[in-house]
Amino acid sequence: MPVLAERMSHAKPSTIMMIADKAKKLKAEGRDIISFSVGVPNFLPAHHVYQAARDALEHDSGQYLPGRGEDSLINAYLLRLEENGFSGYSKNNIASGIGAKHILFALLYALLNEGDELLIPTPFWTTYRDIADLIGAKSVLMHCSSDQDYKLTPAQLEAAITPKSKVLLFNNPSNPTGMVYTEAEIKALGDVLEKHDLWILSDDIYNRMIFDGIGFHHLLKTNPALRDRIIMIDSISKSYGMPGWRVGLMAGPEAIANAVVTLNSNSITNIPGVVGAAAAAAIAGPQDFADDMCVEFAKKRDQVMAIMAQISAVTCPTPRGAFYAFPDISSVYGLTHQGITITNDVVFCERLLETKGVAVVPGGAFGEPKAIRISYACKAKDLTEGLKRFKAFFDEIV
Ligand code: PLP
Repeated sequence: MPVLAERMSHAKPSTIMMIADKAKKLKAEGRDIISFSVGVPNFLPAHHVYQAARDALEHDSGQYLPGRGEDSLINAYLLRLEENGFSGYSKNNIASGIGAKHILFALLYALLNEGDELLIPTPFWTTYRDIADLIGAKSVLMHCSSDQDYKLTPAQLEAAITPKSKVLLFNNPSNPTGMVYTEAEIKALGDVLEKHDLWILSDDIYNRMIFDGIGFHHLLKTNPALRDRIIMIDSISKSYGMPGWRVGLMAGPEAIANAVVTLNSNSITNIPGVVGAAAAAAIAGPQDFADDMCVEFAKKRDQVMAIMAQISAVTCPTPRGAFYAFPDISSVYGLTHQGITITNDVVFCERLLETKGVAVVPGGAFGEPKAIRISYACKAKDLTEGLKRFKAFFDEIV
């Protein structure tokens, strides 16, 4: 019997998707389930986005399209970059793919040899390490605990860099923690990076979701000397409520964009035209909804934090962006819930789902087993009810 390639022994399905599927299955069986698991924004794209998709369908030739992305999409992205102060990019600096996940896969594939080190501030978005495992690169996890607001310090970064370090993955605002770096914090990290020859993948996909007026700051602006080594990654999934449409984008040095285009030509060929047209319409269209979206998410964040403040067993740094909270719940490990000992994050999540019907993701999936991730971009009614159950669960722990 022929066997799978050896590399598949490192491959595993996404934990987040597994939890989300379990929650869906229980719901289908008639259970009253509230899902705080998957990172899906609770809004739909604007009318003009659907209209652009319909128009494209009407004129669709069904032919193969450019692997970099169609000009309308690239120009929309370039315009947005320019408007946000990232000037000087042109078509050859851009590539598109089937979601930021695919762009990240292509970039890591293009940049890392087997055994090269990928530096990952931890907690991290699960897929970073999973891709590194698949391509045989070594993940170097820089552990950032809740008492440092889950943020990487310059000293940690400096200490982690070795001659084998090839890429830093920097995600701001962060999934899973919701943390947002200040300008000074980014500048301090940038000063370290200027001394070392590393690629920097800046996963900026939550850049429009920042609260409390702290703004979105970027290594490209604090440390322009890094420009030739920075690759920016963006996506329509979260900002425009379009996770299933699957469009991701990158901007960076020409050689890197070209590498992604080459990989596209050997894998996806092109983004489907209808999807690309919808993405272009979303990116080029009015952006004023983003402020309302941030106001809504900030209110939900406040609601989450109000409950966290009532649970003494929890330590939860206040999220400033995205739509996640990442409470450290490790003080209940070793205690019991209805006679069952909560030994770790996985048991905690299983008990919470089974007894209260609330799905959250174990922090171990993000490299921090002391915590769990709550995605709070759900309906207001579900958030209120889910948080009530979350608190009740803690009240039953002895
Ligand atoms: N990067 C981060 C930090 C994410 O949270 C996600 C999705 O959850 C992605 C990338 C992938 O986004 P996309 O849906 O565009 O593949």
